Amino acid sequence: SQMRESRIKRTKTVCTYCGVGCSFDVWTKGRKILKVEPQMEAPANQISTCIKGKFGWDFVNSDERLTSPLIRRGDEFVPVSWEEALDYAAQRLSEIKEKHGPDAIGLISSSKCTNEENYLMQKFARAVIGTNNIDNCSRYCQTPATEGLKRTFGLGGDTGSIKDLANSDLVMIVGANPAESHPVLSTRIRRAHKKRGQKLIVADLRRNDLSNRADIFLHPKPGTDLIWLSAVTKYIIDQGWHDKKFIEAHANGFDDFVKWLEPYTLEYAEEQTGLSKDILVETAEMIHNASSMCICWAMGVTQHIAGSETSTAICNLLLATGNVGRPNTGAYPLRGHNNVQGAGDMGCAPTYMPGYEFVDDENVRAKYERAWGVKLPTNPGADNHRMVEKIHEGKLKAMYVMGEEMAIVDSNANHVQAAFEKLEFFIVQDVFFSKTAQFADVIFPAAPSFEKEGTFTNTERRIQRLYRVFEPMAGSRPDWEILTDLANRLGANWTYEHPSEILEEACGLTELMKGVRYELLEGYHSLQWPVLEDGTDTPVLYLDGFGFPDKKARFYAPTYRDPVLQPNEAYDLHLNNGRMLEHFHEGNLTYRVAGIREKTPTAYLEISKELARERKISTGALVRLVSPYGQVKLRVVVTDRVSGKEVYLPMNTADDHEAVNYLTSSYHDDITHTPAYKEISVRMEVLEDK
Ligand code: SF4
Repeated sequence: SQMRESRIKRTKTVCTYCGVGCSFDVWTKGRKILKVEPQMEAPANQISTCIKGKFGWDFVNSDERLTSPLIRRGDEFVPVSWEEALDYAAQRLSEIKEKHGPDAIGLISSSKCTNEENYLMQKFARAVIGTNNIDNCSRYCQTPATEGLKRTFGLGGDTGSIKDLANSDLVMIVGANPAESHPVLSTRIRRAHKKRGQKLIVADLRRNDLSNRADIFLHPKPGTDLIWLSAVTKYIIDQGWHDKKFIEAHANGFDDFVKWLEPYTLEYAEEQTGLSKDILVETAEMIHNASSMCICWAMGVTQHIAGSETSTAICNLLLATGNVGRPNTGAYPLRGHNNVQGAGDMGCAPTYMPGYEFVDDENVRAKYERAWGVKLPTNPGADNHRMVEKIHEGKLKAMYVMGEEMAIVDSNANHVQAAFEKLEFFIVQDVFFSKTAQFADVIFPAAPSFEKEGTFTNTERRIQRLYRVFEPMAGSRPDWEILTDLANRLGANWTYEHPSEILEEACGLTELMKGVRYELLEGYHSLQWPVLEDGTDTPVLYLDGFGFPDKKARFYAPTYRDPVLQPNEAYDLHLNNGRMLEHFHEGNLTYRVAGIREKTPTAYLEISKELARERKISTGALVRLVSPYGQVKLRVVVTDRVSGKEVYLPMNTADDHEAVNYLTSSYHDDITHTPAYKEISVRMEVLEDK
């Protein structure tokens, strides 16, 4: 048995499924995965994982993996050598850059890729192509939260750690469903609630595991969170319950903010949000009685035309009550993808470089021009929403999408796919032949996280190292290697031999992560940014002042906007959407895991008992949902999780024709261009009852 033991390998990796950032050992023999074993020293999860982290890995050995680069010839994809694919891609990109200029090319990085790969993707865009047209999928989720945080506190990250959430007196969750989207984090809250009597307030349209346990459950009218949050804030201030000492010492703009709050009376909030005055007072009292409060939020807040504004209202409430800048308090926009924080930190955005330094700042550009030895573009680029529009306008001719299922993940999928059809040249780099890949001219087969070295940054700003469990499947390659080879064909001279060299270059150029080095990240060691040059990290932000020159936070008056596309006669149902526990995102990975697929083989539409009665249908009925932008066919599940005319469709669909984004629109948050995924109405046509 010793011989057998000796062939068993244990490798530490980091889960690639959500922003909690669980880490664990993977036991393997050859390419067989024996088990996933979390370790006590894992900083975010200790010995916990959820079903995805524990069982979600068979896709790595799927025979549907891409194992050869493909080039489109007519309607067919032909396998070619890496040499040929890279040469062809380089040649086409050069031609387009020559003919239409660098801004005719757009690049999308990936929150599933490592920090090192994200750094290289934006360096490729800026230093090799010469454009700031670079973005990543945080545009689809938490960019509005980042905006709210930056306006008020100064930095765009969660202000504390998961530990602070567990130790807080009160947790408030707005428009997030951690039980399914961030399961291990939800376990910590559930435990604190049960064992320590931590108070819990949940605001959502749909009931979920945590809302069922909550001390207060708020179910406002869709899209009205800013109003009740501001009314609660006003009530607290009117009672004199605000933290006067903290505000005096650490925040600017309080008096103007109080003036702005004037219209947000309890009466007004009741009328606009449908929440009773009593429950709002109860909420304010619970906040007042708690000596520490954390607020978590996610897509229920951000995916609206005013997502940045509501995120700002949350930060104002935290400031008014002195619940930021000390342990066990703060703001927690829960990051969806495992490395969505890292993709932003590494500068995969059209307006800023790594470490959130702006591209239109001459000094910042000069620093990178020296380091990279090139002239950099001065104008901010297009985000992913603008890229799609620019293709339709005939201004963007080529795209390079790395590890992003943009064809069905961006809103208004029909509109996005019509844009892809118009591209002169399209590179898609992925593990599987995705829906997006169907529109490509060249496809590069990439290796998933189990097959590479690198780092991910979780929702706590925690940078963690992953080690290679397997060699890349024959024919596929890690994204950073593909990027390096392509860059060098376009005149760069990148000599990276290991991701550690990339991370050191990236972090050394920033203020925020100056001291990050691989030797500080060995095994289960991790670092939470900001990381000083000597390697000291920062579990709780703002202990020594806020992220503005005068170290003071800022109250910021947000602007309320009524949600668009509210139910009307033709489209009478409000369509809510989000995640389900078993599956990840568009489903390309988890639907390829047999055990998970058996348990949850497909997406389904949740409808209320009232609606089922009215339409005379039951669970299993087949319906068509129609919006002004498209349609999908699905089976229904009748449930009391949703009520009245609100229906819920998980975004994790097995069949891309069921994807919720055939229904969503191109409306978006004005400031960040995050799509208003949560503001859509549909009608339901019954095709067949069971
Ligand atoms: Fe992975 Fe998130 Fe589950 Fe942890 S909670 S195992 S990071 S999906």
